[in-house]
Amino acid sequence: MAHDLEPIVRQFQFGGAARRIEPHGCGHINDTYAVAIGPEDGPARRYILQRLNHQVFHQPEQVMANIEAVTRHLRRKIAAAGGDPDRETLNLVPAVDGRSFYRDGDGNYWRVYAFIGGARTYQVVESPEHLYHAGRAFGKFLRMLEDFPAARLHETIPDFHHTRQRFERFQQALARDSAGRARAVGAEIDFVLSRAADTAVLVELIAAGRLPLRVTHNDTKFNNVLIDDATGAGLCVLDLDTVMPGLSLYDFGDAIRSGATRAAEDEPDLAKVSLDMALFEQFSRGYLAEAGPVLTPLELEYLPFGAKLMTLECGIRFLTDHLEGDVYFKIHRPGHNLDRARTQFKLVAELEKHWDRMARLTGEYR
Ligand code: ATP
Ligand code: MG
Ligand code: MG
Repeated sequence: MAHDLEPIVRQFQFGGAARRIEPHGCGHINDTYAVAIGPEDGPARRYILQRLNHQVFHQPEQVMANIEAVTRHLRRKIAAAGGDPDRETLNLVPAVDGRSFYRDGDGNYWRVYAFIGGARTYQVVESPEHLYHAGRAFGKFLRMLEDFPAARLHETIPDFHHTRQRFERFQQALARDSAGRARAVGAEIDFVLSRAADTAVLVELIAAGRLPLRVTHNDTKFNNVLIDDATGAGLCVLDLDTVMPGLSLYDFGDAIRSGATRAAEDEPDLAKVSLDMALFEQFSRGYLAEAGPVLTPLELEYLPFGAKLMTLECGIRFLTDHLEGDVYFKIHRPGHNLDRARTQFKLVAELEKHWDRMARLTGEYR
């Protein structure tokens, strides 16, 4: 047992002593532990203890306020729909002072969730059905939160998907060329510049009030869905740190960006990077089966564009960091951010190539 965690564990309302605390899962952002509570010779209750990464989240109390409000709402909606609120949403365990987190003497923020058993996350998509069930889980997440006042949530990462602003920062980095790398990446720069108009589209639709503000997850990777061992279906959406007001298109788009390809985000061999339309189709079908009825006609129309824009935005961020000399994203080899930018641009090109098919698939619900 990691003894230094015992004083932390004592700060939460467990109703018992910890008999085991061990590292759990393979998240990259927070530190995650599994905690077993109860006597050595009796049954244990399990929990997830997490230390929030406050390098990434500068406003941990706002992050926790968002999670508290959203999970409370989900609990109510799941119960009303006859579901199991103990397994279909994360459930916070309060600290002894009643708050949803504990702040230790070093300024670390800790939180506890009830452990959801009989289910697991997968690091890689093993079958197309996996993405169908992920689609359903994220679609249901949107639908259940349709009546939550999204504007009440804190914008914990301001302008997270303000793609126009991301593009303007890219232009500044290009003008400065502080690492002297611009000349060598002319093709990538042209790729972005020729799509400059795209970066303003959603921002303008929001300003015109034409797209509804929704509760968005903002990290819709496949490994943030708990898959039920017994049924194979998506059980619960995890990792709510980036829940914010936003567009459905962000969540759909980022799920496609990260999930509808078999290639790694930093694959150096672009021949291996392609959009897998079977995966696109599975995710879309699952997502629309749940969220289809609540999405507006304009949201439905813009789903393929959302996928393209989230992928382009991600590529722009990687290319910007490459131009600035790798100051933001951690790199593990020279040119790493450039490789990452290139995979994203390749996917953008693939999305453009498959446009009609994507539009047909998502259009079935209009
Ligand atoms: P990421 O790198 O995706 O940002 P993270 O560091 O934010 O990850 P989480 O995704 O919140 O961490 O959790 C890490 C892992 O812990 C999950 O993938 C899941 O396997 C497990 N986990 C988290 N919460 C629970 C829970 N309530 N019940 C069971 N397992 C959980
Ligand atoms: Mg995660
Ligand atoms: Mg996370």
